[in-house]
Amino acid sequence: MALMTGAEYIESIRNLNLQIYMFGRKIDDPTEDPILRPSLNSVRATYDLALMPEYEDLMTVTSSVTGKKINRFTHIHQSTDDLIKKVKMQRLCGQKTAACFQRCVGMDAFNAVYSTTYEIDRKYGTSYHENFLKFLEYSQENDLTVDGAMTDPKGDRNLAPSRQADPDLYLRVVERRPDGIVVRGAKAHQTGICNSHEVLVMPTIAMGPDDKDYAVSFTVPTNAENLFMVIGRQSCDTRKTEGSALDVGNCEFGGVEALVIFDNVFVPNDRIFLNGETEFAGMLVERFAGYHRQSYGGCKVGVGDVLIGASALAAEYNGAAKASHIKDKLIEMTHLNETLYSSGIACSAEGSKTESGNYIIDLLLANVCKQNVTRFPYEIARLAQDIAGGLMVTAPSEKDLKDPKIGPYIEKYLAGTAEVSTETRLKVLRLIENITLGTAAVGYLTESMHGAGSPQAQRIMISRQGNIEQKKDLAKAIAKIDK
Ligand code: SF4
Ligand code: FE
Repeated sequence: MALMTGAEYIESIRNLNLQIYMFGRKIDDPTEDPILRPSLNSVRATYDLALMPEYEDLMTVTSSVTGKKINRFTHIHQSTDDLIKKVKMQRLCGQKTAACFQRCVGMDAFNAVYSTTYEIDRKYGTSYHENFLKFLEYSQENDLTVDGAMTDPKGDRNLAPSRQADPDLYLRVVERRPDGIVVRGAKAHQTGICNSHEVLVMPTIAMGPDDKDYAVSFTVPTNAENLFMVIGRQSCDTRKTEGSALDVGNCEFGGVEALVIFDNVFVPNDRIFLNGETEFAGMLVERFAGYHRQSYGGCKVGVGDVLIGASALAAEYNGAAKASHIKDKLIEMTHLNETLYSSGIACSAEGSKTESGNYIIDLLLANVCKQNVTRFPYEIARLAQDIAGGLMVTAPSEKDLKDPKIGPYIEKYLAGTAEVSTETRLKVLRLIENITLGTAAVGYLTESMHGAGSPQAQRIMISRQGNIEQKKDLAKAIAKIDK
């Protein structure tokens, strides 16, 4: 099976019987839960779109491993063209879901682990790359969704992993056996873990020689014994349980994050990709973060497209579309959104070949891309709220709109232009509310700030990659300053 249908994907997740906890109880069937289902639908979109002829070129690609047609989300990038298509695919998925579609973390982890394991093996004669190739082929053949898990809870940020008061605050190896290792710890903010078949764990920071047990990378199935997830709450999440599509704003799609606990999980030897080679932890982190920072130049732009469209509709529906300040705000939103896209494309076009043969983005430009993402969506959201007006947060519920007694008053007094019904007007305002204040704001705003590393993490990389010395030399040459 090279490509799964969306329906097959949902079935495959249902069959995993994952251990997911939310609101103090274990969820019986997460695929039918009203809070979780929209996030599953977002991942499903990555399967459905891959089977649509018009998106075939972006969503699918020939595997470099098997030569078969695969979903691009499981691909190892073979060229800068692949890197560019990745960003375009993510913009498309953002446009179609207006949410985080989650599957990118696995793709980014694949590409970072692919090149890093190759370099570790060359230095130590280990067989991590071979292990990874086997897992990669399995993922491609079965069209799997894989969660890339990096962020440890981290405890006291001032202390290295091995110095923490509780040694489990960074995920670590607690037992070494002839047939594998046992790991304990947690990964926080795990996007899409409950919609994934496998989890690929990586270290979260560069490590020192004392942190050997913490320099570990591996995969296990998400239904592995002693692995469980606790779903994070999102603003307005319980609206999804009320049964009103209008009140939710985006009833079909969403994103979800969870705290994932590894309470002594066994990992067989052939699923291990790093085990104690501490000096490679930093490389793995830097590469994964770089790829994921590139990703944001696609996915957030797609959601931005929806938000800009919703803002233009909101203005049209209340008769303000022709006002010059509205037009100007839409131009500003477009300018900011396309600037994000530009840096996503730029870091891809400037990518280069790694020793292992796959392609990596230009790290400076990828970090600039993500740094922009920590800011521009907030400004785009501010302008969207400006255009939407206060009704976005003061509109009555759908139940009131449909009530035989008060409904007609709402219809009458919340009307905009005569061509559009009040319900249509409210639909678009609720969508803007969803993206800028509701559940989708997690993906569009807070994730833009902290996902793929908080702003300071990019600034450190920008300072490392910025090459100020070379720029000083340039200035000296122009100003005729001798050494
Ligand atoms: Fe993909 Fe964007 Fe979600 Fe990351 S935040 S998983 S890049 S959609
Ligand atoms: Fe993310």
